[in-house]
Amino acid sequence: MTPQTVNAYYNPTTNEICFPAAILQPPFFNMHADEAANYGAIGVVIGHELTHGFDDQGRNYDKDGNLNDWWKEADAENFKQNSQILVDAFGAVKVLDEPETYANGELTLGENIADNGGLHVSHLAMQNAIKKHQVNKDQMDGFTPEQRFFLAYAAVWASNIRPEAILQLTQMDVHSLGRNRVNIALPQVTEFIDAFGIQEGDGMWLAPEKRALLW
Ligand SMILES: [Zn+2]
Repeated sequence: MTPQTVNAYYNPTTNEICFPAAILQPPFFNMHADEAANYGAIGVVIGHELTHGFDDQGRNYDKDGNLNDWWKEADAENFKQNSQILVDAFGAVKVLDEPETYANGELTLGENIADNGGLHVSHLAMQNAIKKHQVNKDQMDGFTPEQRFFLAYAAVWASNIRPEAILQLTQMDVHSLGRNRVNIALPQVTEFIDAFGIQEGDGMWLAPEKRALLW
């Protein structure tokens, strides 16, 4: 990737992670912004790339970048069971009425695992930073740091999209649509449920036993 590219990647064969300079600007990163917002935006992107090293494909590579199964059987089985929760949750989403189209939970699994892990790991990093007084713990505009974290994450994926592009991306893109990276990914994350006090009967509620926990 060039420095001007707004993107990031993890490459399992070289164990290499890359954040081009151009992604270090809003809405991903702003050195003058609220720290909680940066953890929710670029922090989750960094956690996302780290998690790719341990997603459904990355986990098949060892520390030297070679295809080598280094997992215990029981761990692999648990991983597959939790992965299936994400496959089913995303695959159940109707993204277009005409032609009737559903998201592809298998195609997007690696990216959805990376979002799930990225949210957890960056939220954990923020909790550690809060303990070290590196994050403003006061409410801002009526929102706690935990709420600002998830609002910033959602803002990263806010977008306009035409039905034709939804159809094309759903067939080709390994990433979920922006709206699903928010509306479907977040109910899986207990930290999100807790941050907004979401309860049974609320639109984004998901029962604890239905939430995937991989990383
Ligand atoms: Zn990714």
